[in-house]
Amino acid sequence: DAFNTAVAAASELNAFIVTTPDHATAAADAVDARREKGEDLGKMGGVPIGMKDLFATKGVQTTAASHILEGFTPQYESTVSQNLWDAGAGMLGKLNLDQFAMGSSNETSYFGNVSSPWKKDGTNAAMSPGGSSGGSSSAVSARIAPAATGTDTGGSIRQPAAFTGICGIKPTYGRCSRWGVVAFASSLDQAGPMARSVEDCAIMLEAMAGFDPKDSTSLQMDVPGWEAGLDADLKGKKIGIPKEYRMDGTDEEILKSWEQGKEWLRDAGAEIVDISLPHTKYALPAYYIVAPAEASSNLARYDGVRYGLRDLPDGAGLQDMYAATRAAGFGDEVKRRILIGTYVLSAGFYDAYYTQAQKIRTLISQDFSAAFGECDAILAPTTPTASFPLGENQDDPLAMYLNDVFAVPASLAGLPAMSVPAMLNADGLPLGLQIVGKPFDEQGVLNAGLAIQ
Ligand code: GLN
Repeated sequence: DAFNTAVAAASELNAFIVTTPDHATAAADAVDARREKGEDLGKMGGVPIGMKDLFATKGVQTTAASHILEGFTPQYESTVSQNLWDAGAGMLGKLNLDQFAMGSSNETSYFGNVSSPWKKDGTNAAMSPGGSSGGSSSAVSARIAPAATGTDTGGSIRQPAAFTGICGIKPTYGRCSRWGVVAFASSLDQAGPMARSVEDCAIMLEAMAGFDPKDSTSLQMDVPGWEAGLDADLKGKKIGIPKEYRMDGTDEEILKSWEQGKEWLRDAGAEIVDISLPHTKYALPAYYIVAPAEASSNLARYDGVRYGLRDLPDGAGLQDMYAATRAAGFGDEVKRRILIGTYVLSAGFYDAYYTQAQKIRTLISQDFSAAFGECDAILAPTTPTASFPLGENQDDPLAMYLNDVFAVPASLAGLPAMSVPAMLNADGLPLGLQIVGKPFDEQGVLNAGLAIQ
């Protein structure tokens, strides 16, 4: 009954693409059996989680919210999902997302928009749960799932977490294996947990992370005991406030929540210091060159032969089949990224765009390295605004990309970064704060998050 009630709520929000009650039930039964035998229940024993539909799940349709992968049923399990099942978790279903994880509002899914459970006070308009992990943020904030997986290429864990008043952490690039995760921009893609508390994120990240020889960029490092290391006492820690993040277009309420965040961290014993990240303003344009470039290459594999959809017009040759399949299978935003990506990688424009963007990426990393000489972690807003009604930014891709302005620098530098709920704005909508940490210092990020939540 509880499951059916949850399913009804979830279908109103359109959070799930498919539900898998048998999977979650099997995990619950397995925990019962282990308990009876007095065995260890596992780090996530019996916990029913939602799985972003970007992770390959054996025998369960995996679509990346695209038409081109509709009906694709992998014969293998992604490393991250396998790690979660090994820790005892079960799957409630595959969660909706922006198509191929491209978007900031969950309006690019082939399976329809996802709504946030939050509404502006006194209105009934459906609000965006953020994106691309919008099914994850919606389901967790609506209490349909206690936790969900997300992926973050340029903010897709942090921005939806901020929009829906939950926590989400993108670990250091390489902590979670990319094997079996549908690729968007491989040098940026990272999986991470989305949950109601910092503690739950720490537990789930421990279960998800770990070296994987099947991912060539996987970190060969042990997974620390992040849960055991949680400590909200920040005495002796310096928290940096980057002056370049005070940008035009940031809502007054966001700046206010940032001020409040400083206070909370000071109360927890931290010293607040001013820092500079001088190349911040180039991060967004660099991201929107690097990410589409890699995407255009990664999406070449959807050719109508190897996966899912095949559109074969009568009498068509191979090229016609490619064209027809890709025209029918990819949504508008995905096509936009492929066009931008192939353009910036083309022989005539490569140096002007892609090479420049890569140089900016290096400068941004150097900015962070220098700043971390002066502080242990950085506090910033997660987004420049609170959530907006579905449809409001849909026709303006550039306005949509601006959502990611505070999120992409940490992505380009591969740094761990978390969003934690800060407060509600005057409309009763949640606002998030972001903590960015040194490479491999998820613990520092989680601890500062704990002091804020
Ligand atoms: N919103 C960003 C984009 O559309 C980030 C997406 C993501 O992190 N997957 O590219």
